[in-house]
Amino acid sequence: MSQQTENSLAGNFDQQFIGLETASAEFVPALVSLILSEARRHRASDVHLTPEQDSLLMYWRIDGVLHRIAAFNKSLSERLVSRLKVLAGLLTYRTDIPQEGRISREHHAGEVRIATFPVLSGERAVIRLFADYGQLQQIADLNMNDDTEQELRQQLQATSGVILICGPSGSGKTTTAYACLRELVSSCSLPRCVMSLEDPVEMVLAGVAQSQVKPAAGFGLATGIRSLMRQDPDVIMIGEIRDAETAEAAFQAALTGHLVVTTFHAGSAVEALSRLGEMGLDATLIRSVLRLVVCQRLLRRSCPCGGLPLEPSLGDLEESIRESSCPQCGGTGFSGRFLLTEHIELQQRDLAEAVLQRVDAITFAEISQRAGFTDLTSRARSAVLKGLTTGAEIFRILGRDGSALNPD
Ligand SMILES: [Zn+2]
Repeated sequence: MSQQTENSLAGNFDQQFIGLETASAEFVPALVSLILSEARRHRASDVHLTPEQDSLLMYWRIDGVLHRIAAFNKSLSERLVSRLKVLAGLLTYRTDIPQEGRISREHHAGEVRIATFPVLSGERAVIRLFADYGQLQQIADLNMNDDTEQELRQQLQATSGVILICGPSGSGKTTTAYACLRELVSSCSLPRCVMSLEDPVEMVLAGVAQSQVKPAAGFGLATGIRSLMRQDPDVIMIGEIRDAETAEAAFQAALTGHLVVTTFHAGSAVEALSRLGEMGLDATLIRSVLRLVVCQRLLRRSCPCGGLPLEPSLGDLEESIRESSCPQCGGTGFSGRFLLTEHIELQQRDLAEAVLQRVDAITFAEISQRAGFTDLTSRARSAVLKGLTTGAEIFRILGRDGSALNPD
């Protein structure tokens, strides 16, 4: 990220920092409050406090990208982390082991978790800021591609089958799965019994009986799904399918008349399908219960301030960021995020046959394209053309050359 961007976010924080009374006994508590409220105001998801030899560096992660915000005097390092540990009820005298805790709501609005970690030059701390309850996302808030959203909503009406949400780490799969559950709980005219098995439970959902697995106690995902069947649920959310045993249990549950919503680590919808086959899942079982595979990427949205080039390509991005700070994007040129999605609806006969025959990924891609499937790369190209995001952002997320996405 450009120096100018860093400077506008950092400069803003600096100005407020200067206003604090350093001699006051309340200086450190006031600084912690300032960090928490400012980070949240700028929509940061994480605050990193990294001790160096002679300073304490602070970074904020905003829309998935780290920004350097401040370098504090080294003498503050211990006091700041110590204050956080007090707020989270951690052991302040133990600086030699990693610790985790949460800051109670009386000190700060919204869910805040602290994780400390001993490193060579002191104790490192990461503050995770969870979204406020008021900001909890419904499917409509995810900003996914319209056709995927429509298909997803339709498939959620079903009473049985599997809906698979795929993507790499950090692509927002769990957020999408949670949004599906909120939709199910809030939109159905008839009440449905919605239960979840998660590892871990990331957010509390009203109307969903959520359960956290304890593999050490023999309560794993696969065994948990089998026990869950005796709870008479209509809809089951499985946090993530990571192994063949869980996949088998989830698909069997769907076969016996349950709607299963789950996430799966895969780079594309086609890859997800072939990996399910490679896991040893019976092709007939896949074809009979899998309804929809959605694959997604989380991208930063260009800010309307116009701080970005009209014909974006790698390199242009940094030069064109505005010198003055835009209140909406803090000068980063990006404001908020959206989902780039592709999906395969499995009731289409050609696609189902391809799964049954376990064709290779390339052949499958050809068949799916004939069936009207639009992949992430084409969707990325349209997103850039519409000015939703930049070629550089596409490159950062999809790892494909931004110039290849430009029109001919
Ligand atoms: Zn802006």
